[in-house]
Amino acid sequence: MTATLTQKKTPITVAYGDGIGPEIMDATLRIINAAGAQIDQETIEIGEAVYNRGISNGIEPSAWDSLRRTRVFLKAPITTPQGGGFKSLNVTVRKTLGLYANVRPCQSLSPYVATKHPNMDLVIVRENEEDVYGGIEHRQTQQVTQALKLISRPGSEKVIRYAFEYAKQNNRKKVTAFTKDNILKMTDGLFHKVFDEIGSDYPDIEKEHWIVDIGAAKMADTPEAFDVIVMPNLYGDVLSDVAAQITGSVGLAGSANIGEHFAMFEAIHGSAPRRAGQNLANPSALLLGAVMMLNHIHQSEVAEGVHNAWLTTMEDGIHTYDIYKEGTSKQKVGTREFGDAVIERLGRTPRKLKPVKYLTSSAMDTHQRPFKPLEEKRLVGVDVFVDWSGGGPDDLAEAIVPLATDGLSLQMISNRGTKVWPGGSPETFLSDHWTCRFIADGPHTVSHHAVLNVLHGFLARDLDFIKTELLYTFDGKPGFSLAQGQ
Ligand code: NAD
Repeated sequence: MTATLTQKKTPITVAYGDGIGPEIMDATLRIINAAGAQIDQETIEIGEAVYNRGISNGIEPSAWDSLRRTRVFLKAPITTPQGGGFKSLNVTVRKTLGLYANVRPCQSLSPYVATKHPNMDLVIVRENEEDVYGGIEHRQTQQVTQALKLISRPGSEKVIRYAFEYAKQNNRKKVTAFTKDNILKMTDGLFHKVFDEIGSDYPDIEKEHWIVDIGAAKMADTPEAFDVIVMPNLYGDVLSDVAAQITGSVGLAGSANIGEHFAMFEAIHGSAPRRAGQNLANPSALLLGAVMMLNHIHQSEVAEGVHNAWLTTMEDGIHTYDIYKEGTSKQKVGTREFGDAVIERLGRTPRKLKPVKYLTSSAMDTHQRPFKPLEEKRLVGVDVFVDWSGGGPDDLAEAIVPLATDGLSLQMISNRGTKVWPGGSPETFLSDHWTCRFIADGPHTVSHHAVLNVLHGFLARDLDFIKTELLYTFDGKPGFSLAQGQ
């Protein structure tokens, strides 16, 4: 089971993190080294101590040198400081290193860990860079704030192809996509469309799509109906915690963050500061993150040995406090003793739980689909957003209908996305945030000058325009949504 002595060591960057981080990292490294992992460890400091030195993203500039050298990062949880001024280290690392896919296997260990879903064995692949996680937010009026949700075709293609390749390599039979494209027809609609396109390259894998709300309900109720689920960032963030929790404990789930050039492996839980320094914490989640790392660096034999020894330990009822249960568990142990128990079981496979079998992983196909010919993009109008509290929709329309110019005229006014002119409903709640849509009054292309002339009109009437969105068609199809009721 141990790797051959001639195998070259793979350099990895390790961060011990905060709270329970150092204890669970110590146990994890002891186990994988005892199993014969051929790794050359470089240690960096991240988290609380770095934040306290005034570095707003919690990572020293010099740490990037190590990460760029090794390209593999095993990271313990960190404590995120409360209050403003600090940036999330996780988001910084994911975006800086281009870690586009977040992979979280969630498997029940029934009857050894209590769960309502004894046959659950699914993997969530979450898009990791886009969606609202750009954190591009604005306050535009007294009453209204906005966040920008960005979904790109290349970003969707990468993560969806990864999900199918993961399924292929791990002998999984089905890939499901969750989106909300009945409402978000452009953004989630693109994710769904790309899912259908990429899926057609994998005829042997079953494909299905669920609207995220009912899909989430089904996953919480009948998780065994799913295999691999791929989803945009925000849904994946929320639902991967749900999936991990219903296996029995979030303390048992590891995750891999995969990019084209880098990869980061971690536990899904945080630094549990109240448990720190007491030899209490369960190192399992970080250990399973390390198992994914061993597979990633092509030490699958060692990964398999560690995973099976860990399953045997769980099956033998040797449990840390968080999963210890009278009757099922045999012995309550601390972090260190749990690590020792796994090491003692290296070379064994579980008797009741299903042993894992990791094939030496072949290279994943990450090819981009052939470049689509550029669609013809035409400017056909502008949405002008205004901060206005001067009356009702008819009053605003009266002020801006005369701004029609250069073949552009007012088509409609909406408030928080609901059409209020022409023909609005008196019951619609009105905020101070209005969208005034000027559109070409014929099949001609609109000029940017025409848009500027409309804006000059707003300026001349002292109307506070807070933002504009230009309206384009792509090969004649509108690249903008209609307002509710339009
Ligand atoms: P947490 O995950 O640290 O703890 C939640 C609960 O789970 C606590 O009751 C804790 O005692 C228990 N728990 C977590 N991991 C455990 C383990 N391995 N063994 C036994 N029990 C465990 O969540 P939190 O309390 O909300 O966050 C604590 C800190 O961690 C915060 O500063 C948060 O920002 C940070 N955090 C970091 C990461 C990360 O670095 N990836 C992720 C989540 C939270």
